[in-house]
Amino acid sequence: MVQRSKIISGVLLLLALVLVVIVILFARMLSFTAQKGAADAMTPLTVSAQAISRLSQAVQIPAISSQPDKQQRTSSFQQFHNFLAQNFPLVHGELEIERINNFALLYRWQGTDNTLKPALLLSHQDVVPIEPGTESDWHYPPFAGEIADGYLWGRGAWDDKSTLMASLEALEMLLANGAKPTRTLLLAFGHDEEVGGELGAGAIAEQFRQQGMTFEYILDEGAVIGVGLVPGVEQPVAMVATAEKGYLTLRLSSFGQGGHSSVPPKVTAVGRLARAVNRLQEQPLPAKLTQPVRDMFSELGPHMPWTKRLVLANLWLFEPVLVANMAGSRSTQAHVRTTTAPTMFSAGVKENVLPQSASAVVNFRILPGQTRQQVIDLVKTIIDDASVTVEEAGSISSDPSAVSSKHSAAFKSLKRVIEQVNPDVLVSPALLFGATDSRHFDGLSDNIYRFTPIRVSGPDIKRIHGTNERIAVEDYENAIRFYHQLMTSTVINPMPLNDG
Ligand SMILES: [Zn+2]
Repeated sequence: MVQRSKIISGVLLLLALVLVVIVILFARMLSFTAQKGAADAMTPLTVSAQAISRLSQAVQIPAISSQPDKQQRTSSFQQFHNFLAQNFPLVHGELEIERINNFALLYRWQGTDNTLKPALLLSHQDVVPIEPGTESDWHYPPFAGEIADGYLWGRGAWDDKSTLMASLEALEMLLANGAKPTRTLLLAFGHDEEVGGELGAGAIAEQFRQQGMTFEYILDEGAVIGVGLVPGVEQPVAMVATAEKGYLTLRLSSFGQGGHSSVPPKVTAVGRLARAVNRLQEQPLPAKLTQPVRDMFSELGPHMPWTKRLVLANLWLFEPVLVANMAGSRSTQAHVRTTTAPTMFSAGVKENVLPQSASAVVNFRILPGQTRQQVIDLVKTIIDDASVTVEEAGSISSDPSAVSSKHSAAFKSLKRVIEQVNPDVLVSPALLFGATDSRHFDGLSDNIYRFTPIRVSGPDIKRIHGTNERIAVEDYENAIRFYHQLMTSTVINPMPLNDG
């Protein structure tokens, strides 16, 4: 009897505990609500029909930074500069303009209040080339600047002439209305972002460091207004990247004695290298939630269906399950881990000749909080073969950026402006997987954000650097409205918004 009553009271205790946990889970879910409503929508600013044809003309000047012909490269950038000077006469008449390394452009609109830190907008002038053999897949020739079906088509229409031109359009409009800045505004347009950005953004950032300048905020191209990109959220989501991943490329090499393939060793250089690559593929780097992704969930979670909301409101319990789940899916794993992508493999010259060496190239995109050296150390541990050498390769190499806050006045201003211009969207912090010029400016501001104010749905993602790159005319007009309002509310009449 005693035994039985002990069991019954044990079961009751367990049930009570389960009940308490369920109550906590649901209570947390119910209190997991969206932060205050969107800002008041604005009456849309009228944008001149000339704006899209100016962007079209910009697209027709193919300033390709990887163009090997130096003369052609030089003349395309000069042509682009002349085009800008002709089309934005007030900007070029009233702002100080500096050229760095001949082709990078730095515009300065001097404010009246020197106690305010300046704001800095970044874009890049250069574009990537068209992959040979894909020209005929374009609906319109990539450098024709064709406007059709509600879109402007062409290389650079999105990346990144859209933000460069939209910010100049906004500035020209403001100057035409006699606007005077309170806060100093700088615009920096590098010319080699697509090949690493050292001579453009890198040199400009170095100059700022030498001058001891720091910025209230820095805004670069980056994440977009995703339409249907966040599972469970119906509204479009303006993703403002508060950090970007680091970039590292490693070359793995193995070596062997040459000779005839009829008398092979137990493992050839190819076999050894393949084993190393396979180990890396089989053992991905550890997964975890970083601050930008946590911030994204706390912003968007309340807008998701209750099952997801229950999980996101209770990360104290579900975090390991959530992380494991995200790490297991191709579409979500980049949010939670440093990704491993073997991209190139070269070895051997003939089918019956033993290779003397073999090499593979592996590209990593590093989570905030981890360093390149930590990744290299992990890679060596995973490969676990001292005869395979590991060295840095590739033209770009950078640690992940610092993480900027979503509580800063600058983020709040950005959020407000995005909501004013796009009343239907939610604004969320995010982690950017790609690298931007903003990484050169790490440390020059506590508030570095990466956002391109255009709408992108799933099938559009491959257009960037790909075939049929385009921008909707309406999106471009909204991008101009975005910069106009951003300059108005943070530079001309800076609104006091408290950090906190
Ligand atoms: Zn870009």
